[in-house]
Amino acid sequence: MSLAQFEGCLLGLALGDALGAPHEGGIVERLVWRLIGATVQGQMRWTDDTQMALDIAESLAVQGALDADDLARRFAASYRWSRGYGPGVARLLRRVARGADWREANRSVFPEGSFGNGGAMRAPVIGLYYAHRFAELADAARLSASITHAHPLGQEGAVLVASATALALGTRNPLEIVRAAAAHCALQPFVLRLRTAEQWLQEGSEPDASSVARHFGNGIAASTSCVTAVYIALRFMDRPFVDMQRFCVDVGGDVDTIGAMAGAVWGAANGVAALPQHQLAQLEQGGRLKAAAAALYAGVA
Ligand SMILES: [Mg+2]
Repeated sequence: MSLAQFEGCLLGLALGDALGAPHEGGIVERLVWRLIGATVQGQMRWTDDTQMALDIAESLAVQGALDADDLARRFAASYRWSRGYGPGVARLLRRVARGADWREANRSVFPEGSFGNGGAMRAPVIGLYYAHRFAELADAARLSASITHAHPLGQEGAVLVASATALALGTRNPLEIVRAAAAHCALQPFVLRLRTAEQWLQEGSEPDASSVARHFGNGIAASTSCVTAVYIALRFMDRPFVDMQRFCVDVGGDVDTIGAMAGAVWGAANGVAALPQHQLAQLEQGGRLKAAAAALYAGVA
């Protein structure tokens, strides 16, 4: 594992997020993003996926360990409506900002807890940090997700995406990654989809985007987006990032989050130099993302 892979992971996440954001949501969301999707300097803005990944990376760098209370405070302090947070997590984070404990706030909006993909979209950072302590990774991913996603499905998505990211640092074999990541998953919606993903990767069959969306989903639930993203990253691992990103757009649905998770796994495998440099130059806060990657790397190297 190298610094270039850590940078590739965080910048790949942010790029997949920023490039996917204009394609996400209905007509109203797309019109709003046309208005707020660029900075004053004209750079591409990223959304909540990247903000929360940065919150985790910066918390780990400062605390030197996964500190859920610190993380909850950072999530709440970073919240801005213009980053496209879902309405449930927005309410939850506003409660935390007003002083509520995240352990109660995470069930205040949905009594069973959220099973959305918000815990998984930021989990690549957990994958980087725990790659060399793989036995602790699943618990850490669950804890980092549980601050906003108390439902087991929301947490399982985080475990899958963190595992795939960590594994991609060490091998470029898609089958090895999907099998080892699947070993961490026990809940049926994940297990069944991962079995199909493994089969497709093994056969070398390449179903089109609508078929991928039909089998794995493209929604905002963790169970209908995390396998989709991991599968796309592995299938396109030896191809250009832009091809992978275009496929995410074609799969549709929650394009920024699926693009962020796929971009993170792809970037962890291929490193920062493999990302499209002209698009990277148009991305906002590239320096902050690189600094966060360097601090994370310094913490584990
Ligand atoms: Mg988003």
